[in-house]
Amino acid sequence: MIKGEKLYEGKAKIVYETDNESLVVQEFKNEATAFDGKKKGIITGKGSANTQISAVLFSLLEASGIPTHFKELLSENEMLILKLQMIPLEVVVRNIAAGSLSKRIGYKEGVSLKNPIVEFYYKDDKLGDPLLTRAHIDELEILKSGQYEELRIMALKVNEVLKKYFGDRDLDLVDFKLEFGLKGNQIIVGDEISPDTCRLWDRGTKEKLDKDRFRRDLGNIEGAYREVLRRVKE
Ligand code: ADP
Ligand code: UDP
Repeated sequence: MIKGEKLYEGKAKIVYETDNESLVVQEFKNEATAFDGKKKGIITGKGSANTQISAVLFSLLEASGIPTHFKELLSENEMLILKLQMIPLEVVVRNIAAGSLSKRIGYKEGVSLKNPIVEFYYKDDKLGDPLLTRAHIDELEILKSGQYEELRIMALKVNEVLKKYFGDRDLDLVDFKLEFGLKGNQIIVGDEISPDTCRLWDRGTKEKLDKDRFRRDLGNIEGAYREVLRRVKE
């Protein structure tokens, strides 16, 4: 496999083409951003931790019958993935109130939800990734018939698999964001699953082991990512 031209550089990752037109390389960076890119920083070791954590979690999903874009690890901070036509939605699943949900519905951070909540946000930096209702998604014609329900069901299935895996490692999965893409008509989990995209709390101490340490200046950010990697690999 030959790594070719850079196709896209985002805030946390770079995508490169390869000599196989259906595969791309995803390189994870140490750069971190928050609040629509207004806060910037470097988290040493984040790129490699997120690469390895994502690889383990994608393999877990595959083993549970959920298709993902993951093919193989190439280096400490690079993975080979299926090139997908990305769906411009951020699909968030929540088990415990935190972040924007606490602001939206007034639940204190840490309140358990009666049932998992699935939310859809429009992946559009210019608009600030707004929350979308089903009617907005229909109006924008982002999905074909049946895909809305399919995404919801897949997101909830991912939640069940991840909640159990993290739970067995004394981590509460508070919430997380998924991105999906299409290969033909098949919906596949893409992007990454890492402490950048999940809220993870230690089950006993409720210590935050995710990007909130960066967002909220809580210190020991590197240690938190290392600790999640250690537990995920257990
Ligand atoms: P952002 O674009 O939000 O700054 P990143 O820095 O994480 O995000 O960049 C990674 C980009 O790669 C994202 O736009 C994401 O949608 C896209 N992507 C993720 N998985 C795939 C895939 N399998 N095929 C093509 N593009 C992908
Ligand atoms: N999230 C993400 N990327 C985004 C927005 C949110 O990965 O662009 C994740 C975030 O890490 C958290 C979940 O989605 O695990 C819910 O985030 P929330 O809506 O509470 O937004 P926040 O207040 O964190 O910006």
